[in-house]
This record gives sequence, C-alpha cells and structure tokens, in this order.
Amino acid sequence: MNTFPLFRFAVVSVLLFSHQTGIGADTTNPSDAAAKTGKAVKPFWRGVHLLVNNDQQILVLKEQLPKLATVGVNTLILEVNYNFEFKSHPELGAPGGVKAAHAHELAAAARALGIRLVPQFNCLGHQSWSKTTLPLLTKHPEFDETPGQFPGNTNIYCRSWCPQHPDVNPVGFALIDELVEAFEADAFHVGMDEVFIIASEHCPRCKGGDPARLFARAVNDLHGHIVGKRKLEMLMWGDRLLDAKAMKGGEWEYAKNGTAGAVDLIPKDIVICDWHYEQQSHYPSVPFLLGKGFRVWPSSWQPLAGAKAFSAFSREQKSARLVGFLCTVWGKAKFDAVAEWPPVVEVLAEWK
Ligand SMILES: [Zn+2]
Repeated sequence: MNTFPLFRFAVVSVLLFSHQTGIGADTTNPSDAAAKTGKAVKPFWRGVHLLVNNDQQILVLKEQLPKLATVGVNTLILEVNYNFEFKSHPELGAPGGVKAAHAHELAAAARALGIRLVPQFNCLGHQSWSKTTLPLLTKHPEFDETPGQFPGNTNIYCRSWCPQHPDVNPVGFALIDELVEAFEADAFHVGMDEVFIIASEHCPRCKGGDPARLFARAVNDLHGHIVGKRKLEMLMWGDRLLDAKAMKGGEWEYAKNGTAGAVDLIPKDIVICDWHYEQQSHYPSVPFLLGKGFRVWPSSWQPLAGAKAFSAFSREQKSARLVGFLCTVWGKAKFDAVAEWPPVVEVLAEWK
C-alpha cells in the first residue's frame, strides 16, 4: 500500500522503534552447508528489501537490475502483499497490481545476473493500515482476530487474522503459491512482524490462549506448507521472537505482548530477518538468535550511521549462520535510485 512507508516513517519519527517504516533448509543450499561445516557463508546474502505497490515498479526494477548487481546486490526481497493480480483469489488482488507475466520477466532477468528474488506476503499481522483494512479481512471479515471490533481501525495499530480459523490457511497458501510461481522463487518471506493483536479476548477461538503458542502455530502452519510441502526456504522478521524486557527495548522491534516464547517452538531452519535501525553499540538479538540455532539476516534501514553500526556489529559475530546483510528501503529511495542510495551502496560493500 502506498501509505505504508509514510505512516511507518511517522511512527518511527515519534517512537524511534517501529520497523515497517523483516529457509527448511535444503542441504544443497550454500548457507546451510556452511552452517554444517562451520565455514562462513560465501557469498553473503547482500539483500535489498523493497515494497512493491504496483506493476509499473516491477518494470522499473527490471531496468535497474544491472545497476543493483554492480553494487553487489544478490538478493531482492519483494514485499508484494495484495498488490498482485491473483488468479486463485482475484477479489484479493489490487487494481494495477503486479502481473504474473512481468514477474516472470523480472525473474529471468534477475537469474541472468545472479540475483535471487524472494517474494514476501505479510502473514498474520499487518492486515490493515491506518483506516484501511486490507483485502483479506475486507472480503473475509470472519477471519479477523477481532471481528466487528475497532470500527475505522481506531485505537489499534494493525489488524491480524486469526491463526486458528479453520479456513484461513488455504487462502493464504494459495496466494503464497501464486507469488512463488510468478517470481520463480526458491524462498518465501512471510513477514510476521509487529503482530500486536493475538490471543484477543474478542476471538472465540483464541480468547485466553497463550500468545507464544498461537504465534508459533501460525509460523509452523506456514512452515509446513512452504518448507514441508513446497521445499522452499522460509524467511520471517524476528521482532516477535525477542523479549523486550530481557533485551531492554521497545514494543516494536521487541515483543511486549507475550509472543517471545515462540522462539523455542518453531523450526530452526527459518531464516530470521532481525531488524534494527537505530545506532547502537550492541545488538543483543543477533547473538541470541544465532545461539538459538537460527540463521540470521541482520536488517537495517536508515540512518546510515545506524546501518553501518549494525553491519559492523554483525560482522564481528563470525558465525556460519550469519547469512549476510539486508537493507530495507521503505520507500526512502525510488526504485530507479535504490542502486545509488547510500545505505545500500556503502553498507553492502562491506559484505563482499
Ligand atoms: Zn483467533
């Protein structure tokens, strides 16, 4: 949605912590092999995360791929969400959404340059933005974790779907499958960041439930489909796995709503995109998640000083499961200027 990054920026400027301002391992995967041998990942995943709002941006991105390859980018996370012409559920797509034919063209061009495409669809949380409720819960209000509550989305951050509704996963899996096919992907990013509404008193299934177990259930259901059935790698943002009290952080990049226990209830072959934007001397989540056995992909944004500090700290970890570095953009650079954006150019150069 076009409004996402702007609102995210506003949230960041006020609260300083919001992020949306985040693989079953295949034994042939280089990073997994590295994890087993203890050798550093080579090549590192030098990634850029882009919000894709419409089909035109895919065409621009295709033209930009050579420049991105020149500055070292070898992975693109493309957060498409509902901005796609879905055939399985056309009612959930957006007007002007990405056409599958253009996604295929982008995939071919990226493959020729050695750039891996990883599509993303925000699962569980981020089902509304400001006053706008996104298509899934508009067309299927019965999937809402807080059905009929918070008219106009007042007094909430974002809506969530109910992880225990028996009919929600088949719909989500169908959308994921279409994105995987269109972008010819061997990995998928499920989002899962900033899920504030979970185990709601307004949900007849989840009321009184354990947020950690319910969050883990959603992760495990997705893993079963993406990794178990489709044999792809799975990536997700890490903030709900991090305990705000233990790490002395805010409720955006760490969890204050009881989900952090899920860290011990989900498969270790998921790649955790651990996002932090502010300049700090220490980022405790990186050694924490590595220590839990996950592969970790540190993810920065701006300011440049914050990205550089996080990159430097991450490089000190010397772990075979530290897969590289991801630069999120959140609309701060247009698609035709991402390859010149300082946080991308200067930070990714450190990972060659
Ligand atoms: Zn529920």
